[in-house]
Amino acid sequence: MASSDDELVFLPLGGLGEIGMNAALYGFGPELSRQWILVDCGMGFGGEEHLPGIDLVYPDLRFIEEERHNLLGIFITHAHEDHIGALVEMWPRLRAPVYVTRFAAGLLETRRLSEPGAPKIELKEIVPGQRLQTGPFNIEYVPVAHSIPESNALAIRTPLGLVVHTGDWKLDPTPYLGSLTSETTFRALGDEGVLALVCDSTNVVREGESPSEADVAKNLATLIKDAPHRVAITTFASNVARIRSVAEAARECGREVVVVGRAMDRVLDVATECGYLDGLPEFRKPDTFGYLPRDKVVALLTGSQGEPRAALARIAQDEHPDIALSAGDRVIFSSRAIPGNEKDIGSIINSLIEQGIEIITDRNELVHVSGHPRRGELAQMYQWTKPKIAIPAHGEALHLAEHAKFARKQGVDEVVQARNGTLVRLAPGRPEIIDRLPAGRLYKDGNIVIGAGERALPERRKLAFAGIVTVAIAIDDKGDLAGDPIVDAMGLPEKNRQGENMLDLIADVVGDVLDGLPKARRRDPEAVETAVHRGVRSAVNEAWGKKPACHVLVVEV
Ligand SMILES: [Zn+2]
Ligand SMILES: [Zn+2]
Repeated sequence: MASSDDELVFLPLGGLGEIGMNAALYGFGPELSRQWILVDCGMGFGGEEHLPGIDLVYPDLRFIEEERHNLLGIFITHAHEDHIGALVEMWPRLRAPVYVTRFAAGLLETRRLSEPGAPKIELKEIVPGQRLQTGPFNIEYVPVAHSIPESNALAIRTPLGLVVHTGDWKLDPTPYLGSLTSETTFRALGDEGVLALVCDSTNVVREGESPSEADVAKNLATLIKDAPHRVAITTFASNVARIRSVAEAARECGREVVVVGRAMDRVLDVATECGYLDGLPEFRKPDTFGYLPRDKVVALLTGSQGEPRAALARIAQDEHPDIALSAGDRVIFSSRAIPGNEKDIGSIINSLIEQGIEIITDRNELVHVSGHPRRGELAQMYQWTKPKIAIPAHGEALHLAEHAKFARKQGVDEVVQARNGTLVRLAPGRPEIIDRLPAGRLYKDGNIVIGAGERALPERRKLAFAGIVTVAIAIDDKGDLAGDPIVDAMGLPEKNRQGENMLDLIADVVGDVLDGLPKARRRDPEAVETAVHRGVRSAVNEAWGKKPACHVLVVEV
C-alpha cells in the first residue's frame, strides 16, 4: 500500500539524449526518504575528435553515489556494453547487489579475470521470467528478442503502479537463438494496467519491421556456400545467434571456423558454458588458418567497427601473425557502422579492395539486422501494453523527439520527454518533471576516471591544434642572464614561409624581449614570464597565423 506522501519517480542518468551509457533510476517513497533501484549501468565510447585520448565514457552517477544507502539493487537488462560496461568502474562507488542473467554474469566474470584490479562485484543471478521483491519494488524479468542472449524488459511493480522498462528489444518471430518478445506476456501486462512505458527509441525513425535474424542466417549461409575461396566474417562478438548461424552454415559446406580476436574468444567461452553453442564442431585457433585449404575455412573476426588493434584492421594491413587474405577471398561485414566509426571502417574496406578482396556489407546484402524495434514493432508494443504514460529512452535527441510524436499518435495521453538528470514524477497525479539533478559524463583517461569539467581535455585540444613552445631562462640576482635561454617546441612547423627556422625565430624574439626589459624588471620572474610569453605568441602568430601554448620557465640562480 502506498501512503499519502509516497511518490513514484523516474530519473535517467544516462542514455537519454545520447546513444550509450544507459543508466536509469526509479525511486519510491516520500520526497525526503526515497528508495531507489538502478536499471543498467552502461558505458559509451569516446574516440571522438573533441575527446582526444579518451576511449570510454561513463554516466556521472554522483546523485545515486550520494544516495547509495537507499539504493536497493542494480538490475541489468542485458549484457551489451551500453548497459553493463560501466559496472566494473562504477560499482565500487555504489556497492549494491547487481542482478544479472547467467550469460551477463559470465561476461562480467571473464572481464574481471582479464583486468587486474577489477572489483569482485556482488552478482545475483536471475533467470529470465523471474520475479523478485526488493523494498517497494517487485521486479519481473520479461524476456525479449534482441541481438545478444538473455535480453529482458523489466516489469517494475510498485504500490503506485506498474512501469514497463523495455530495455533493448525487437520483435523477431524467428530469432535463431534466444528469446522471443512474447505478445501474450506484454498483452497481459497491458491488461494488468501499465502506468508508464519507458521504451527503446533507437530505430523509431525507420518504417516497418526489421527482418528476422533467421533471414540473415539464411543469406549468410548462401554467401558462405557460394564463396570460391576463403570467407572472413566480422560481426559484434556478443551476437551469439549470428556466430552460431555462421558456424552452422560453415559446417553445412564442410568449412572449419577459425575464431580470431580476444573479444570473440571471451564471448564464445561464456556462450559455450551457457550451452548456446551446443552441437557445433569445435572452433579452431588462429594458428590453424594457414594450414586449411582456401575453400575449407571461415574466419570469424573482431574489428567490425574499424578498431585499429582488432583482428580485421591488422589483417587488412597484412600485419596479423596468423591470418592473411588474398585476392578472390570474401570479407563480410555482418554488422552496422556505429556512427563515428565510418571513416575507420571505410579505410579498412578500401585497403582490402586494393588487395582484390571482395567486400560484402549490409548495404548490398542482407547480412545484418538491428536488434532494435522499428515503427511497426513499436506500434505493436504500444497496442499490447496500452500505457498511460510514454517516456522515450535509449536514443539521441532526434530519436527521442520522433518517438514522442510517435507515442502521441499511438494514443498515449501523457508523453514525457525526459533527459539525463530530469526527475519525473510518474505517480500520483499527472506525470511531471519536478526537478533537475546532477547528471553528465565521466571519462576514462588512461586508468583514471576524470570529470567532464577537468582542464585536461580542453588543454589537449589546444595542443593538438597549435602545439607548444617551451622557453627556459636562468637569471641571477642582479637581473643578468646566466647563459642563453633554451627554446624548444612541439607541434609547430619547422620553418616559416620565408624558410626561416621557427626555433631560431623564437630564440631571437626571446632575446629581444629580454634585452628590452630593464634589469630591475628582469629580477621579477613573473614579469619576465609574462613578457616572454606575450612576445613569443605574437611572433609565432605573425610567422604562422596560429598561437601555440607557451610555457616560460624562469630559474633564479
Ligand atoms: Zn543492447
Ligand atoms: Zn542498448
